[in-house]
Amino acid sequence: MEIFPISLKLQQQPCLIVGGGHIAYRKALLLTQAGAVLDVLSPEIDAQLLALLQQSGGHYHQAKFQPDFPWSDYRLVIAATDDAEVNRQVFDACEALKVLVNSVDDPPNCRFMVPAIIDRSPLVISIASNGTSPVLSRQIRTQLETSIPHGMGKLAKFSGEWRPAVKAKIGNPDERRIFWENLYASPLREQVFNDNLAEAERMMQQALDEWQTPKGEVYLVGAGPGDPELLTLKALRLMQQADVVIYDRLVSAPILNLCRRDAEKVYVGKARSNHAVPQEGINALLVEYAQQGKRVCRLKGGDPFIFGRGGEEIQELFAAGVPFQVVPGVTAASGCSAYAGIPLTHRDYAQSVRFLTGHLKEGSPELPWSELVYENQTLVLYMGLVGLEKICRELIAHGQRPDMPVALISKGTTPEQKVVVGTLADIADKVSEHHIQAPTLTIIGEVVRLRDQLKWQ
Ligand code: SAH
Repeated sequence: MEIFPISLKLQQQPCLIVGGGHIAYRKALLLTQAGAVLDVLSPEIDAQLLALLQQSGGHYHQAKFQPDFPWSDYRLVIAATDDAEVNRQVFDACEALKVLVNSVDDPPNCRFMVPAIIDRSPLVISIASNGTSPVLSRQIRTQLETSIPHGMGKLAKFSGEWRPAVKAKIGNPDERRIFWENLYASPLREQVFNDNLAEAERMMQQALDEWQTPKGEVYLVGAGPGDPELLTLKALRLMQQADVVIYDRLVSAPILNLCRRDAEKVYVGKARSNHAVPQEGINALLVEYAQQGKRVCRLKGGDPFIFGRGGEEIQELFAAGVPFQVVPGVTAASGCSAYAGIPLTHRDYAQSVRFLTGHLKEGSPELPWSELVYENQTLVLYMGLVGLEKICRELIAHGQRPDMPVALISKGTTPEQKVVVGTLADIADKVSEHHIQAPTLTIIGEVVRLRDQLKWQ
């Protein structure tokens, strides 16, 4: 993190603006809205700014920059002159005394930046880009302005008034969080937005009186193949409300970052034949956390019910009486084929598609070969590269054409996606020529040829 956002209480606090023109006035408006007592240091001053100054109870120091000005009397200083050199001098003087200082539109001469602000007081949202792009920050502000109801401020104020009562009733902080989350998802929210405060108070009291420690729950969530934008809305919502996230190797870092920041994150590995935590251990872990009353998000690559052992995990939950939900995800076959420009079916080339895994228990793939050599059928292999050579050989031995196209997609849908195209006869050799990283998906079928036209990535 390049900058650290804080929210400053400025009521009745002395602040200084250096400069007396329009830029100074704009900053002064913001500071007085936050309740600061403003002083201005400048040889000249606009009438508007002077009026504001008098309103806030501050002083006008009619003078040029002086190094020995009492800078440290101020909580913060804003240099808002049109002279870059003066702004720099103000910065240096304040830095020497460790007084927070900002120079308008001059990031190198800033200790703090003034963010773009969305004011739903007492809720205030600030957006900052460390001086790299104020326009981008403002655009984001515009987007948020339209999506955050104005009543949010009232809801924050209402919550603040009830906080002590909620804390007194519900001692456990995790449980308290769940109480508030449930409350914000309830009709109470609309009552506050519409100023029906008596009804809101009644609902709040009832919610508190009827509160019971919640039971734990497991969300078995498909995280998709890698691109975070392929997450479902439901996956994202549950990822953000879980207390614990149990994830494996296929879950990409950007997706993990979308989970609730303070959720406990548990890595349970799952590299091929080298499970960091064996499946039985994972099953037991899910049950254990849920029995502690936690909301557990079991996050899995792709779709949990496609070669994901999701079924085994929820069988165990079912046996232990732990409630669960299953959220489907975009499976690797869908994600990789879409991002590689290879439709899995096409009226001219394939009327069926078959998903297979080569991860068989003995380590060597034994598949129903003769069922796999139909024309007009696409095969999708969920497995690493081990066994690929044997699969190609067996398909040819069982009658498939050696020139049947094959595509290997590595790290599909991520910025590192790589696609290697060949045929049953030569794909294994091509693999050794290219540096291909796990995970990889193999697509076999005439549809692979369509990539020449449909490649869009
Ligand atoms: N449940 C997952 C599959 C787990 S099996 C799903 O529905 O996608 C693991 C195999 O999935 C890997 O060996 C690889 O063949 C495939 N796979 C998963 N994500 C992938 C990705 N981003 N790119 C390529 N292959 C992937």
